[in-house]
Amino acid sequence: MQVIKLHDKYFKKFISEAQIQEAVARMATEMAVDLKEEQPIFIGILNGVFMFFADFMKKYPYPCEMSFIKLASYHGTSSSGNIKELIGLSQDIEGRTVVVLEDIIDTGNTLDELHKIFTAKKVKQFKIGTLFFKPEAYTKQYNIDYIGMEIPNEFIVGYGLDYDELGRNLPEVYQLHTHNMINLILFGKPGAGKGTQANFLKEKYNLVHISTGDVFRYNIKNGTDLGVLAKSYIDKGDLVPDEVTINMLQAEVEKNTEANGFIFDGFPRTTAQAEALDSYLASKNMIISGTIALEADDEILIKRLLERGKVSGRADDQDESKIRNRFDEYNQKTAPLINYYENQNKFYSVNGIGTIEEITGRLSAVIDEL
Ligand code: AMP
Repeated sequence: MQVIKLHDKYFKKFISEAQIQEAVARMATEMAVDLKEEQPIFIGILNGVFMFFADFMKKYPYPCEMSFIKLASYHGTSSSGNIKELIGLSQDIEGRTVVVLEDIIDTGNTLDELHKIFTAKKVKQFKIGTLFFKPEAYTKQYNIDYIGMEIPNEFIVGYGLDYDELGRNLPEVYQLHTHNMINLILFGKPGAGKGTQANFLKEKYNLVHISTGDVFRYNIKNGTDLGVLAKSYIDKGDLVPDEVTINMLQAEVEKNTEANGFIFDGFPRTTAQAEALDSYLASKNMIISGTIALEADDEILIKRLLERGKVSGRADDQDESKIRNRFDEYNQKTAPLINYYENQNKFYSVNGIGTIEEITGRLSAVIDEL
């Protein structure tokens, strides 16, 4: 999926250049049939229309004139508040066929103004064409004569349309990247199987897996400053300080701006981390879809971790007192997050005992309902 960032928000590709050009060509053909004898004046409403207007003109086959206008708001003294004023129209349009071209019509408020203005100027006929139309947002009665494409009521950018002035130069149209993203937190005590399951789920749902434990171990192996710092905590089974962990997590998310979604494994582990994650995701128009806990008994987990320690060489898996310390850290600092996510109606729990496939099945059943 193609994702871009404008200001603080991410947008994903929504309408391709080819689809747009096809719609523009169809509009030009429809208007050519209707207006062949008229020598119409096409009037573009700036700024958003500039790209559509230029492409349209190249495809309109008969003699025509063109002009651009802007609708500027000024605050009048009347009680109606916002009054629209037309700027830029120099031609005499009385008795002429006028076609106003818009990049997008949503509520229809601008169209309302245009209708009033052009009817007052005694034109022969007034027609309106828009490349994009949002039927769900439209509140007016006027018939729109030519529509390129109907689109859902979502914020779009590109092909002349902007988000706070950025994005107008994109040849295709993008949509806010909030939807269909699956962002999961895999929750549970050390040894519950979060990493194992994340490896299956990331393939199945095409997600990026971020394990904070793995990132720390990678840094330790490579002797980075972060690794040296983290090692002093990890070796004892203590949590690494929040600030360090939160910054690291954000940096990992930033590396994957094109992701379809994330599996957070081993993060958050404290309320401060959960709050930081929520506000960070909100700034990216993302949210947590669900937090799923893998439940298993402490004694089973201790056995599993000691077995894992023999193979992995992880110091924190080889010593029962360190493992119990990690459980204490979990009970004190991480368990309160169950409440945190329950309050957001985002907490789910599955039985973490069974074969790997059985557990993947249980997790998938929850994810498919999110
Ligand atoms: P894990 O591989 O998830 O069991 O993590 C191993 C160790 O890394 C933990 O015992 C902590 O010392 C550290 N760690 C991993 N994730 C976090 C986190 N979110 N907050 C603080 N420390 C963490």
